[in-house]
Amino acid sequence: MRETLYETARRLIGFDTVSSRSDAPAADFLAERFESLGFKVACQRVELSGVPQVNVVASAGPPVPDGLIISGHIDTVPFEGQPGWTRNPLAMEVEGDRIYGRGTSDMKGFLAQCVEAAGAIDRKSLLRPLVFLFTAGEEVGYAGAEKVVPELAHLLGDVPPPRLAWIGEPTSFRVCHAHKSIVTFEITVDGRGGHSGTPDQGVNAIAVMGKVLEVLGHLQHERASSPDPRFVETFPEAPCDVMNLGTIQGGLAANMIAERCVVKVSYRSLPGADPLALYRELQQRVSKIDAHDYALGKFRAEIEFSPPVAFPSLNSPRGTPLERALFEATGATVSRGAPFGTDGGWFAHAGIDSLICGPGELEQAHQPNESLRRDAFERGTAIILDVVRRMCR
Ligand SMILES: [Zn+2]
Repeated sequence: MRETLYETARRLIGFDTVSSRSDAPAADFLAERFESLGFKVACQRVELSGVPQVNVVASAGPPVPDGLIISGHIDTVPFEGQPGWTRNPLAMEVEGDRIYGRGTSDMKGFLAQCVEAAGAIDRKSLLRPLVFLFTAGEEVGYAGAEKVVPELAHLLGDVPPPRLAWIGEPTSFRVCHAHKSIVTFEITVDGRGGHSGTPDQGVNAIAVMGKVLEVLGHLQHERASSPDPRFVETFPEAPCDVMNLGTIQGGLAANMIAERCVVKVSYRSLPGADPLALYRELQQRVSKIDAHDYALGKFRAEIEFSPPVAFPSLNSPRGTPLERALFEATGATVSRGAPFGTDGGWFAHAGIDSLICGPGELEQAHQPNESLRRDAFERGTAIILDVVRRMCR
């Protein structure tokens, strides 16, 4: 077993970096490791939802253009209250051909590989800058990346910000160059409560929400039945916008007219489209609903959309030197779309084209007893070194 790699992963997994808590202890650990390896390190200290968080930028190589960013997020999704855990999420365990713990696949295994690779790189031989960028708040709207991207040039000092980034999210070392945008919002139906024996004296919010859901369902069906031919190869499972009804809440008792009903909705639009176009289309169609319920009463419900929260898509150009390097280093021959969002959406805003490729398994991400195959874990450092050799030397 490789002591440094396993020990670093064990340390990283031991830090509780659930997005709602501060990632500072883990970020400081990474900063110290890269500093001791001779990298120039800058920490961006920010506040996300009132919690202090840290983004870490570690760079090496000469201050010339056309370097490479290798990036990953420090935070993880929660584990408390998640059914199915039979192991301690914060104590890495090695058993059989896997390592277990929160973040093994998503994505502290990759971070440990970055540390090990950084220790093996001959910094003097770099002809172009190599930048490691570790972010906070990825699992809660890519919030760390949104903060660090505008400050990257400043944090890098005399090193020009590279235009290519490799994000080691869990793909089982497949290469992805695209993902959809994500928009989330709520729809609230406010009716008028009362006794269920006199339904005409009120308006039932759940009944009206039923009409709203039908409108949403129709639009979803329309999109699903007209796939966009330009994206059939990139998103073979769903070459169209996809929608999800996440939660619904409403009503108080079976014998009361439901006064309020709220649904939480999210959708993902294809790259290139205005992420908010579908939101506006839904608003427009919902505005035409007859907001009476079915009881022939005179009252109408109020239907309101919350402001949308939108995160950008990714659609990196094909055939970049980074794509070639990742293909050579991993043996991959095709690039597809990823079914999840990444920090790369914000990187793209700053003109940084990202590719996604990492040792973790998507099926393991966010799961109880999250794990990572040891062969993928042990193989990753050599892949990083190979890509660095091809890109920065
Ligand atoms: Zn992730």
